[in-house]
Amino acid sequence: MIAMRFLLSNDDGIEAPGLVALATELAKLGEVVVVAPEREMSGAGHSFTRRFPLKIRPVRLPVAGAGVKGYATTGTPADSVKLGLYLLHREVDWVISGLNGGRNAGVDVFYSGTVAAALEGAIDGFPSAAFSLDLQDYPGEPRWAEAAALAREILESLIAQREKLPKRVCLNVNIPNLPRAEIRGIKVTRQGLQRYEDYFEVREDPFGERYYWLTGLAVSEDEERETDLEGLRGRWITITPLGIDLTDYQLLKELQGWGLKLKLKKGSSAR
Ligand code: MN
Repeated sequence: MIAMRFLLSNDDGIEAPGLVALATELAKLGEVVVVAPEREMSGAGHSFTRRFPLKIRPVRLPVAGAGVKGYATTGTPADSVKLGLYLLHREVDWVISGLNGGRNAGVDVFYSGTVAAALEGAIDGFPSAAFSLDLQDYPGEPRWAEAAALAREILESLIAQREKLPKRVCLNVNIPNLPRAEIRGIKVTRQGLQRYEDYFEVREDPFGERYYWLTGLAVSEDEERETDLEGLRGRWITITPLGIDLTDYQLLKELQGWGLKLKLKKGSSAR
């Protein structure tokens, strides 16, 4: 296999054990440049920094062997990928994100910094994948090393067929937090549609001012089958291809038939 150069990021921060585990495995396939937020930014979504400068500093990651360079940024996951691509002159074969502590399935993909980091690579035209460890369905001690090895194996078979990968898609991979022997295999699924029942803990700070702490409970409302969430519950590793285009094509066609109009002044050519 030809050596690859991976740009690796995450949203759990540069010191996260899942990132270190994935860097360790990716190093077996080639060169790894880690550019990741200096602190945890889970839930950062695809936000980027516009009104503040970004800084970057080298970090020695606890990864055995050479071929892994680490950089911590003051930015978000998307900032980190943008900065990484810029500093590497876009000489990157894959943009990888993870391994996240917690699944990113269903509507999580809108909030997840892990998925956003991979999507950022996809927007820029690079093959990309996000890896997350499902600790919600399978709580307990996270099996970072085992899951990262599975992620590397999946990547190896993707790399072997990478010519077939279209541009501007990101592969969203979720791995159950289970011993390898208990995982049933890989299922390619669509994105599920669970949502969160938002809940705020209301407390008071030492100055008597009220504050709100967001927590939430995942509620599955999905009647359709073959989703990432269903696959994970069934002990499968799920792969969901995510596109950049959020257009609902069915509604687009219907809306065009609604005859939406404005009352425009006479003489205007616009309908
Ligand atoms: Mn995270």
